[in-house]
Amino acid sequence: MGNIKVRFAPSPTGMLHVGNARTALISWLFTRANNGHFMLRIDDTDKVRSKDEYELAIEEGLSWMGMDWDSKARQRDRSDIYESKIEQLKTDGRLYPCYETPEELDLKRKSQLSRKLPPIYDREALELSEDKIKSYKAQGRKPHWRFKLNHAPIIWNDIVRGDIKFDGKDLSDPVLIREDGSPLYHICSVIDDIDYDITHVVRGEDHVSNTACHIQMFEALGAKAPIFAHLPLLSDKEGGKLSKRIGSLSLKDLQDDGLEPMSIVSLMARLGSSEPIEAFSDIKTVIDNFDISKFSRGTPKFDAEELVRLNTKILHEMSFDNAKPRLIELDLSELDEEFWNIVRPNITRMSDAKEWWNVAKGPVTPIIEDPEFIKAALELMPPTPWNKDTWMNWANAVKAQTGRKGKKLFMPLRQALTGMDHGPELSELLLLIGADNAKQRLQNDKKAA
Ligand code: GLU
Repeated sequence: MGNIKVRFAPSPTGMLHVGNARTALISWLFTRANNGHFMLRIDDTDKVRSKDEYELAIEEGLSWMGMDWDSKARQRDRSDIYESKIEQLKTDGRLYPCYETPEELDLKRKSQLSRKLPPIYDREALELSEDKIKSYKAQGRKPHWRFKLNHAPIIWNDIVRGDIKFDGKDLSDPVLIREDGSPLYHICSVIDDIDYDITHVVRGEDHVSNTACHIQMFEALGAKAPIFAHLPLLSDKEGGKLSKRIGSLSLKDLQDDGLEPMSIVSLMARLGSSEPIEAFSDIKTVIDNFDISKFSRGTPKFDAEELVRLNTKILHEMSFDNAKPRLIELDLSELDEEFWNIVRPNITRMSDAKEWWNVAKGPVTPIIEDPEFIKAALELMPPTPWNKDTWMNWANAVKAQTGRKGKKLFMPLRQALTGMDHGPELSELLLLIGADNAKQRLQNDKKAA
């Protein structure tokens, strides 16, 4: 593909939601897979709801997932540019003033619906007499402005949805300028996409009918519309609309839950595509294997448990070098490669490593249900130095002396040594616990480490 330029355009009115994080990721992977330019565009035309802290959180979220951007723009810095294009559309007669109040528009809609008519704006504003306009102005009414759609077919080939056809006559002329004179998202977005030479727009399918209007705005401004890819929105795992709980799930929630960013990347890069979901350990491989044409219209089901499964798999395969920075974040800088390799198969989240660290280094509360048995085991504890055969030799000796075997032999020892009834192989864990700790635990010394 030639020089492609793609933008991700979040509104900084809240935390980055999983659905938007997915749109960002797919846009980014598509761009990087095609050596394109990725732009972050902050859609902050809503001055009341847009907040700097959300903008920062969005950037942090993208970076956490491993995404970067080649340029950044904010719509609030571009008012003058919008102003001149808006004037052009007014001069060309593509923007027309409307004086209806929200209540009047609501009444119109209700009356259309009660007559089983589609709630399309009836263009009454185009019929207003000079006198009527004068009287509205005298009442202090200020106009909002609508874009006059051509009543003609609007056709495009969508990367995800294939051929799409609308007719301008079935759509309401969109409002582009508010009563206070400020421009709305639609026009700012189209002007930006033109100015920044955006070649591809990847966004959610909730924008499909907006796109039909946007295509006419590109034409009205003398530009060629970009290529569109509208991704289906995520549903919950039963296939319903994202439930309230998941519906409000932000990327930050997943981060706070202790999940690895690569588990989210792995899931979102494939969910809704015909490619199988795989646990990827690095983002470069995801880019190299990414193909946007594999996405289709079917609604992808988001299952948080699947994320945990991927997270587990990613951790089980993670090298010590990759784990190291995460371990340092968790105050586990002393945890070395040997320890990592032993606990890695036993963790679901990185923070579980801390649990095993505590099990090895203490303090732990030993579980001792049969003190006699544990006393016998203590007496048979092999001398140091210990090696990987120590555990088996010790267990065999205890077995010979007490006649116990299987679970009855191993479980009480595990419980006494670790205070838990599951965990990494004792042959390995024992070496991490060390002879001093092991002895103290079997003695059930209250000061035991
Ligand atoms: N700010 C819009 C949104 O978050 C952007 C849509 C678009 O990509 O044009 O829905």
